[in-house]
Amino acid sequence: DTIGRAFDRTVAEHGDREALVSRHENLRLTYRELQTRVDEYAAAFLALGLAPGDRIGIWSHNNAAWLITQLATARAGLVLVNINPAYRRSELVYAVNKVGCKALILMPAYASSDYLGIVQSVAPELAECEPGQLQAAEVPSLRHVIRLGPDPTPGMFNFDALPGRVTPPHREQLAEITATLQADDPINIQFTSGTTGNPKGATLSHHNILNNGFFVGEAIRLTPADRLCVPVPLYHCFGMVMGNLGCITHGSTIVYAGEAFDPGAVLETMAAERCTALYGVPTMFIAELSHPDFGSFDLSSLRTGIMAGSPCPEAVMKRVIDEMHMSEVTIAYGMTETSPVSFQTGADDSLANRVGTVGRIQPHLEVKIVDEAGRVVPRGEPGELCTRGYSVMLGYWDDDEKTREAIDAARWMHTGDLATLDEHGYCRIVGRLKDMVIRGGENIYPREIEEFLYRHPDIEDVQVIGVPDEKYGEELCAWIRLRAGATTDAQAVRAFCEGEIAHYKIPRLIRFVEDFPMTITGKVQKFRMRQTMIEERS
Ligand code: ATP
Ligand code: MG
Repeated sequence: DTIGRAFDRTVAEHGDREALVSRHENLRLTYRELQTRVDEYAAAFLALGLAPGDRIGIWSHNNAAWLITQLATARAGLVLVNINPAYRRSELVYAVNKVGCKALILMPAYASSDYLGIVQSVAPELAECEPGQLQAAEVPSLRHVIRLGPDPTPGMFNFDALPGRVTPPHREQLAEITATLQADDPINIQFTSGTTGNPKGATLSHHNILNNGFFVGEAIRLTPADRLCVPVPLYHCFGMVMGNLGCITHGSTIVYAGEAFDPGAVLETMAAERCTALYGVPTMFIAELSHPDFGSFDLSSLRTGIMAGSPCPEAVMKRVIDEMHMSEVTIAYGMTETSPVSFQTGADDSLANRVGTVGRIQPHLEVKIVDEAGRVVPRGEPGELCTRGYSVMLGYWDDDEKTREAIDAARWMHTGDLATLDEHGYCRIVGRLKDMVIRGGENIYPREIEEFLYRHPDIEDVQVIGVPDEKYGEELCAWIRLRAGATTDAQAVRAFCEGEIAHYKIPRLIRFVEDFPMTITGKVQKFRMRQTMIEERS
């Protein structure tokens, strides 16, 4: 179904229950109050002259306006474009132009980032134009800039004042759109993290993300009595799909603890709001557990949650279960292109399966693991993970070639991740296909070497890549960050490997670094490491 109609059903059933608590904005909305705002803003976007299919970007941290915009754009058939708040000037221009945004919502400032200043520098024409009349050379598609917060700004609309523009014909137009929208219409473009290259804009439909939110909520057994703390960013599917839509499809309460992640605020919010569930990436859970006042917060209301995005250390998982009372916590695996979740552990899974695996395939999805020739590999063998079903994106925006590379004729999504499946269907992520090294005909999984090298007492962090080599096709290369004061050299590292791992798995090239190239979301970009090595060796 469409998100608008699903939302209306929840409101009809749970209208008086709390839909949203935004602690940092001191705001509480019941489902019925949220619906009123969503309807106002859906009509207000139409009043600006936006029409179904138009792209509207939101460049903001977490707040109520984000949720209202998400639901209002879905209702009006607009395509919401999530723009990462960590983006800076050139990335903003890339995103807006890549998908042709007609409108942009922005928050004016956050900590050190002056979003308003960046937009004014990208579109200096704003100072001279009437709101809605922008024609800027650098971002030619952009007509409307809408700023959050109460202050008027030349050339921009004020988010709070938008509903004032609505007249009865806009409401009639909205009713017509609501009745004719199709579940397969695009409503969202999300950029991938850019771990393996330029971020790609995944185009997602109502059907894609509404169902994924629903099944993620089912896996953690959400009910209208649940109160889910969402400290993960809304610009990513973790927040907007697994968080917002997970709650909305179950009549649960969404709880925001702050604009951006702050472990103290999360702990304080969960205790004060009696939250029953919590989301996060492993590093967030680690930050919460190691907060100096951790022990002073009453977290006994917590029951479940999701840890996703990267593998979770066993010790952390144990503490989350024992000390945060999240006995039913689950692990999820997904990617932007699949709305996002395709694997999730169950509330009853053993600790071993909740740390070593990403669980089993979600309902209504298919999985296969294939070799380079596309043949299904024997159980337990590594290969490329492929998934198929309702959650596979419509495609990459305006990039048919990349879409064809990712989704084959039979609609299988080739994830680019290497994985194994055990006899019970539990999936282990082994690494990324792009990162697999083939040295002299031997397949080497960098993650295995990295895990081995982590055991070296002087090594704080290590990343292993393959670089082109005339003799072996590829040669193994390790970038190592040493602990403070450590003095190990390359020879000693290799000696540490001798006799412990196979000869061909010992990195021939070793370099010591202070940092690794990272995406703004904190994932290591191995393709940049490879570029550096190639340039240096040529
Ligand atoms: P890009 O596609 O632009 O290179 P990206 O793949 O990092 O970037 P995302 O869609 O944000 O962009 O991340 C999805 C990827 O994150 C997956 O393909 C997988 O490699 C990794 N991932 C997600 N969840 C897990 C998990 N639970 N364990 C291990 N890896 C995970
Ligand atoms: Mg990817």
